Amino acid sequence: MNVVALAGGVGAARFLTGLVRAVDPSALTVIANTGDDLRLHGLHVSPDLDTITYTLGGGVHPEQGWGRADETSTVATELAQRYGRPSWFTLGDRDLATHLVRSERLAAGASLSQVTAEIAGAWGLPFVLLPMTDDPVETRILTTDGRDLGFQRWWVGERAAPAVERVWLAGAERSRPAAGVLTAIEQADVVVLCPSNPVVSIGTILAVPGIRSALLPATVVGVSPIVGGRVVRGMADRLLPAVGANVNAAGVARLYADFLDGWVIDDADAALGEQIAAQGPKVAVTDTIMDTVEVTESLARTVLGLA
Ligand code: GDP
Ligand code: CA
Repeated sequence: MNVVALAGGVGAARFLTGLVRAVDPSALTVIANTGDDLRLHGLHVSPDLDTITYTLGGGVHPEQGWGRADETSTVATELAQRYGRPSWFTLGDRDLATHLVRSERLAAGASLSQVTAEIAGAWGLPFVLLPMTDDPVETRILTTDGRDLGFQRWWVGERAAPAVERVWLAGAERSRPAAGVLTAIEQADVVVLCPSNPVVSIGTILAVPGIRSALLPATVVGVSPIVGGRVVRGMADRLLPAVGANVNAAGVARLYADFLDGWVIDDADAALGEQIAAQGPKVAVTDTIMDTVEVTESLARTVLGLA
């Protein structure tokens, strides 16, 4: 069975640890958001690709769920203290190796998808990992106080405090799906929407021209990232109102109404099941809090069962 997963960062990576136990990973393609990518100290940083790579490669920081295990910050300290470089986004020493390799290969003319495959190979990932696009795109946030901020500036730099007026993927119109993305979706028996941010992870992937329309004929099943009207982690609750969506499992499903065939919601949201089913998708209710790999694998099996 060919499976495609659309993925953001931490929530997606955790889900994928269960999915690779439930499917043959050699038939899995993961398509990741690159709207969060940023340049720092001259380096190309791809937070969601790296979170997935480190998590599935066994090198992620276990408590944070992003960044490297056994990390140090010697370089970041030197950059900030000796050179007065901006320190709102810290890159750990081990993590820097990834950004150095990526930046060097991109400067030599490799595409982001080529470099991503090389890095994934170095980590022994058993599936294909693709960026949503090889083209430069950037998630931007317009705050209600009139500032146009890069996503990481708003989220990491300002801790998602400024209220949000509008969110968009800058450069989307000129972007194309990365090589392999549309073919993987066409050949998929099921496309899974990981429990990822519906606005700045799944929403940005859908903003790349051609991806959303490719999902229309596909079998698409997702996991709600909103449980009991709240985020499990992250800031989707700050962004859903800006796209006119209710902060609950039904509001997120509605964002995908044109292509969604199945929606897995948490036991806590069982009462929303009927309302969601009336919007179109089949609904499954289960434990979606991925605090052990066993629960996560069982969640992945529920997703595949619904497909
Ligand atoms: P992303 O993966 O980069 O989009 O970002 P995050 O990992 O920060 O979180 C994305 C979404 O996943 C958020 O809306 C979280 O509420 C959701 N999420 C994170 N962990 C879990 C979980 O264990 N279960 C469910 N259902 N959702 C989760
Ligand atoms: Ca992300």
